[in-house]
Amino acid sequence: MIRHYKMLIGGKWVDAQKGEAIEVINPATEEVFATVPSATKEDVEEAISRANDAFQKWKNETPFVRGKILREAYQIILQRSEEIARTMAEELGKPVKEAKGEVEKGAEILRYYAEEGERIYGRVIANEEKDTESIVAYEPIGVAAAITPWNYPIELLAWKIGGALASGCTIVAKVPSATPLSPLKFAECLVDAGVPEGVLNIITGSGEIVGHELIRNPIVKRVAFTGSTETGKEILKMSASSGIRKVTLELGGSLPMIICKDANLDAAVTGAVRRSFRNAGQICIAVNRIYVEKEIYESFLEKFSEKTKKLVVGNSLIDEHVDMGPMCTRAGVEKVERHVNDALKKGAKLVCGGKRPSGSIFERGFFYEPTIVRDVNHDMLIMREETFGPAVGVMPFNNINEAIELANDTNYGLAAIVYTNNMNIAKHCAKEIQAGNVAINNVDAGVINAPYGGWKDSGLGAEHGPEGLHEYLIQKHVRIRYFI
Ligand code: NAP
Repeated sequence: MIRHYKMLIGGKWVDAQKGEAIEVINPATEEVFATVPSATKEDVEEAISRANDAFQKWKNETPFVRGKILREAYQIILQRSEEIARTMAEELGKPVKEAKGEVEKGAEILRYYAEEGERIYGRVIANEEKDTESIVAYEPIGVAAAITPWNYPIELLAWKIGGALASGCTIVAKVPSATPLSPLKFAECLVDAGVPEGVLNIITGSGEIVGHELIRNPIVKRVAFTGSTETGKEILKMSASSGIRKVTLELGGSLPMIICKDANLDAAVTGAVRRSFRNAGQICIAVNRIYVEKEIYESFLEKFSEKTKKLVVGNSLIDEHVDMGPMCTRAGVEKVERHVNDALKKGAKLVCGGKRPSGSIFERGFFYEPTIVRDVNHDMLIMREETFGPAVGVMPFNNINEAIELANDTNYGLAAIVYTNNMNIAKHCAKEIQAGNVAINNVDAGVINAPYGGWKDSGLGAEHGPEGLHEYLIQKHVRIRYFI
């Protein structure tokens, strides 16, 4: 039976005013298994207005009151993590064990922000004149809008809810149409933890209607967007149309991984497999391009393909041993096919994968095999565009400066990975690579208490860490003369 879920406006779970709905598909079976409201412009206006009413009280609560609620939400989410993870697996295809990890991380993000909110410090600055000083204080900016993509439906939402609520802002979040259900269940935990009515609003509906109203509504003072570079550019242009507001953009990437001849090869191989094929490569910081120093090129490829071939592809709701599920959409599979075929046509060689898997369980569903193509070059789409799927290109390099030049030969600048045991090379790469995040001898470029953001076409501003919290705050300078 098809389940129907409602969206959250002003503390109530409601349908769209016009009663229309969006279908949610299981990408492993291609079956419609749920529906959510397809919100109208009026629904969004209502949510923004309720968020604005709630802001007047929420901004005056102490960070400790707000933190207590976020910590309570952390506990509730952990209790429900298995159920929420199974829902995410159903709508996204992400293996249940990974989905559970994401739900737990979502809880952890709220707990982190509960504490970071208690550490919002101002400054007192001495003035030139006697008995006079400047105070710099930070205040919540107002109603925030969030727009999030489907690949990490809870984590990317939690970054925004955590920052907004801990700082004293209220929020209206538009969740992705492909994977709206796990975010709705996540939001339910916050409601049950005691988030007051109107402080958190979750809207389901299209980017065109809901997204556009959120970006243009003059009450909204802050827009936090995660998604493609194409949509990000449109949002940046549109956001100035009805007033100036703070905008952060976390956008696409084309992540280079550089592996030097002195690196720990086994660690590099493990990292390459994890970051190329986790979540079927649908990660903004998934490895797209691997550059290997020529002396270890063949041995890397041998170990990389051996480990990749062991990955179990399937539906984790049926087989718990699955490492990689289906992709989220049919269009995603078609893009990977286009990139792989383009590389092969231009002279690259297939190491493994390169097709949809065969067998009765793969007759339906958006599956694609983990794919490695070697001897690629920068004329190929796989090395120039974000593939956003389980396919990666590998090519050799002669010296580290050539590798850095190749890594920087892109409009993107989200993150890069380097494996080397030579700390001079590590330092040189960290300095010369044009990206917001550089991971050396590890593949996890983002941690919750350090800022995360992209350079070039990969974004604007930061999430995570105190910097992420400050995107929801506005500074005020107060100059006081005493003893007059
Ligand atoms: P997308 O098409 O840009 O969609 C992202 C969100 O924006 C969705 O909620 C979508 O709504 C909405 N949207 C679409 N068109 C819109 C418009 N014209 N105006 C306002 N909102 C609009 O991106 P995606 O395909 O879902 O996500 C994949 C992309 O996100 C990749 O490029 C990936 O690299 C990037 N990403 C970046 C990060 C990061 O931290 N830098 C993290 C994760 C993903 P609907 O769902 O209703 O279409």
